[in-house]
Amino acid sequence: MNSTDKSCATLTKRLTASGLRPTPQREVVFKIILEKRDHPTADEIFARVKSQLPTISLATVYNCLETLVQCGLVRQVNLERGATRYCPNLHEHAHFHDEATGQIHDVDLPADLMAQLREVLPAGFAANTIELTFRGSAGSPPESAGQRGPAASNAHGSN
Ligand SMILES: [Zn+2]
Repeated sequence: MNSTDKSCATLTKRLTASGLRPTPQREVVFKIILEKRDHPTADEIFARVKSQLPTISLATVYNCLETLVQCGLVRQVNLERGATRYCPNLHEHAHFHDEATGQIHDVDLPADLMAQLREVLPAGFAANTIELTFRGSAGSPPESAGQRGPAASNAHGSN
């Protein structure tokens, strides 16, 4: 009835297709990532999973995460200086890193923009993935709703 149930069906299907068993640990880890889409780190996921599976170890959480990434259900997000984060949004999207709060927001990317980006590569180069990260501040009200896009300046924060 809720979308988490449906996601578990997806999880089972993907795992089985990859020759893996759906274990309660894998299910809980996946559910936790879907529940709160705030790009948690493995440590944060571990803390949340522990409330449901008190005996789970961090190593098991890492194993589950690796499996979910392998199955293509979750993607890893690496920002400089930070721990790897996990994102269940499988559509091509950019991330906006709010430097004030440390929060990471998903930013939808129009398909034609992605095609254009691929075209800037020299002949013979093919990208499997493109990672785009904006850094700046989020939360100010949008001036023209529905017209937001990655054309916005990509602020380069100093290190
Ligand atoms: Zn994301």
